[in-house]
Amino acid sequence: MGSKSKDTGSGADRRRVGRRAVLIGGAAAAVGTVAVAGDELGRLWWRLPGMEKKRVEGELDHKPAEWTAASRANWRRADRPDDYTIDRVVIHVVQGSYASALKVFKDPAHGAAAHYVVRKDGHVAQMIRELDVAFHAGNRDMNERSVGIEHEGFVDRPQDFTAAMYAGSARLAADICARHGIPVDRRHIIGHVEVEGTDHTDPGPHWDWDRYLKLVREASKARA
Ligand SMILES: [Zn+2]
Repeated sequence: MGSKSKDTGSGADRRRVGRRAVLIGGAAAAVGTVAVAGDELGRLWWRLPGMEKKRVEGELDHKPAEWTAASRANWRRADRPDDYTIDRVVIHVVQGSYASALKVFKDPAHGAAAHYVVRKDGHVAQMIRELDVAFHAGNRDMNERSVGIEHEGFVDRPQDFTAAMYAGSARLAADICARHGIPVDRRHIIGHVEVEGTDHTDPGPHWDWDRYLKLVREASKARA
């Protein structure tokens, strides 16, 4: 399950201002050279102070997903991957139903939400854009660098992790990894339990990592 963000941890060196300053320096240097391709300028304009990428309400990062917005209180506006590099996918289990996850992520008092929720039939809801920082890992640095995927069910009920859910989640994870250049391995696709400082145990001992990684690799190949 997602957990509230703490301002502790090792996030200071990844802070937005430092990264942005580096990018602006790079942009200024590029503009100073004789030839700058048009598409390069197109990518650079919004890196200037006060600029943000245009966004459309309800736009999906994972095309097969259904958009249903999380409460604005449960995520932070960002411009990933240009202010923070995305290099992790964090796997969660809801400890409840798909409907209960959508309900609490829409509740501003909950203080946490993930980008995606996967149902037992493999259906995927996107609740937060990947360019934004979702409060799901309980660790600021990890929130800033990751995309969070929740799965319907309970950690002590292996029967909740259906073939359809593994398959739908694997297609989603393969899509995220391909779009952000994230390696498909256990260093980059991790459980909430593996996040530094967490007291959460999800996805728990019944989550079949070998099966899941195999499915993500197969889905990655199918995309290529
Ligand atoms: Zn979790």
